[in-house]
Amino acid sequence: MKNIKKLDILLISIYLLISVGAAIYFTIDGLNVHEGAIEVIISVENQEYDRFTLPVPKMKEIVIETERGRNVLVVEGDHIDMLASDCNDQICVHQGEISTPNEMIVCLPNQVVIEIKGKKKIEVDQIAQ
Ligand SMILES: [Zn+2]
Repeated sequence: MKNIKKLDILLISIYLLISVGAAIYFTIDGLNVHEGAIEVIISVENQEYDRFTLPVPKMKEIVIETERGRNVLVVEGDHIDMLASDCNDQICVHQGEISTPNEMIVCLPNQVVIEIKGKKKIEVDQIAQ
């Protein structure tokens, strides 16, 4: 009996942790959408290549061509996806789409970095006050 109770407590604790975590996550996510402060920064060889805010009003395709190679990005709504790349590992293509702050797609061979930035930290501070 004692073992079952311990297991129950453990399960309840895990459940509570997940619930609280999900609640915080969705609150922050909702605020970000409300603020419209999600920014995408595309860097090529450590230089800023393009910068725009999410979501985009209509689908757009970004073609990045350098001496290293060619990457094709698709931005639709608040999602960014690496559609195609001529790099040899294809990690960036297989990564799938990203849409939340702090997520990124990196193409090491072509030195292309797509980063999503948001005002997450500031908003959390405001909640705490
Ligand atoms: Zn790649």
